[in-house]
Amino acid sequence: QLSQIALSRAKDVESKWQGTSMLGGTTKNFVDGKFVDSSASSWLDVNDPSTQALLSKVPLTTQSEFDAAVANAEAAFPAWRETSLLTRQQVMFKLQALLREHMDDIANAIVLEQGKTFADAKGDVLRGLQVVEVACGVTSTMLEERIEVSKDMDTYARREPLGVTAAIAPFNFPAMIPLWSIPMATVTGNTLVLKPSERVPGASMIIAELCQRAGMPKGVLNVVNGAVDIVNGICDDPRIKAISFVGSDKAGAHIYHRGTQNGKRVQANLGAKNHAILMPDANKNFALNSIAGAAFGAAGQRCMALSVVVAVGEAQSWVPELVERAKQLKVSGGFEEGADLGPLISPAARDRVRSLTGSVEQEGGKILLDGTDFASPDYPNGNFVGPSIVEAGPGMKAYDQEIFGPTLVVLKADTLDQAVEYINKNKYGNGAAIFTTNGATARKFEKTVNAGQLGVNVPVPVPLPMFAWSGNKGSVMGDIGFYGKSALNFYTSYKTSTSLWRAEDANMSERASVNMPTMS
Ligand code: NAD
Repeated sequence: QLSQIALSRAKDVESKWQGTSMLGGTTKNFVDGKFVDSSASSWLDVNDPSTQALLSKVPLTTQSEFDAAVANAEAAFPAWRETSLLTRQQVMFKLQALLREHMDDIANAIVLEQGKTFADAKGDVLRGLQVVEVACGVTSTMLEERIEVSKDMDTYARREPLGVTAAIAPFNFPAMIPLWSIPMATVTGNTLVLKPSERVPGASMIIAELCQRAGMPKGVLNVVNGAVDIVNGICDDPRIKAISFVGSDKAGAHIYHRGTQNGKRVQANLGAKNHAILMPDANKNFALNSIAGAAFGAAGQRCMALSVVVAVGEAQSWVPELVERAKQLKVSGGFEEGADLGPLISPAARDRVRSLTGSVEQEGGKILLDGTDFASPDYPNGNFVGPSIVEAGPGMKAYDQEIFGPTLVVLKADTLDQAVEYINKNKYGNGAAIFTTNGATARKFEKTVNAGQLGVNVPVPVPLPMFAWSGNKGSVMGDIGFYGKSALNFYTSYKTSTSLWRAEDANMSERASVNMPTMS
């Protein structure tokens, strides 16, 4: 059963937003501007991770319903691409205002389905909203290039939308990640089919309604719920030209290969193991608080969570204090006052965190803090674990694999070079941070470390969306990043036209030239 506060938020969300279900009903699809019931024969449960109460059943949308959604997106494309950029910009202005106005409702849906704390859920919405804000500047960012390449001859490069595009989202940022794609795909003139994570469909349903209220015409955004079959449909459907995927390595590799083999553009953001180097000259209090916040916030279920700290030299003696700070964090339901960490997404995720954390001792490491047997008196059925801190290293499961839970691995290094080497040898390259008060140390770190998103005294260095996502190595497949200028490259193709407008037929020979023209 939902807690009292969760129940009142669930009633509120469900009564206000047509596509959502928070009290055990069914989530709808959004096709042709309408919220429609699926005729699926298979449905998946969405449970509140704090109590296991059933919030919704999500359809495994049928092939024919999926076909209809893609057909609808295809039919909407010609008129949408013909709208002016200024018209599409107006939709973004309105969407920006509506998202801000209804942020609490979206955050409530996120807490109910995903479990993170309410404050963190608002951050989830805000980070997506910021992409919409950047999309509002599209009239500047889409300014085209043109030069006179020869006498009376101009070349003009224009960007054109691709057509129907698709986005496949993970469970951990139910608002932000759909909003990495929706504004950038549509403001550039494409239509989009979104498949939200089957575990957290509610935020996408609310966002779809807001897009419609903002003036997005029918069919420009369609939302279809489902799992692997819909994903495979997206990879195979020739009407879909590009796929944005965010999620695990396994699903990402499958989608990248299947999508690109079918001739599509695919961008895939995958897993991570983000290291922070803790230098002995760091501001200790600031660094330990930052590391604890970034390791355990969102119960470690962020792709940019800090999951490894490399303590250099004397900073190794600070680890017991880090353990003390971790112990102070409050683990509880996401709506509870003062909660720092909510539950994990599923019982399976909790079991995995327990098993990987527990494997440290069998593999010769040390468990400094074990939060895996945490039991919440108020939420006895929730998927909770508390913060854990372990000493582990390369070759051990807890270090080599993404745990995606609140378990922080501690490594020891004698020098900065040794610490950087750990990061550079790791297969992932999403983010890395350093805590230091020495500018030269910071600069050397930035130059030598091989990860895509770096923080100097910043624990979660996700670039704001005027920049592009820049994870590297095993954390991405495809070579065009999400949002920022990269999104323009991903969602458009260039067309160049060269034209000659000469007033008179001067110096024109009587004979045709067969040589490669040389510009003069
Ligand atoms: P997931 O891969 O299980 O699911 C993501 C999406 O892929 C879902 O929509 C799901 O329906 C679909 N999917 C899952 N398995 C599939 C399969 N076998 N074939 C086809 N489709 C499949 O990921 P998740 O558990 O929802 O999300 C957590 C993962 O996402 C973590 O690894 C995290 O690091 C990663 N992530 C990465 C970033 C980033 O920007 N690098 C951001 C957020 C999350």
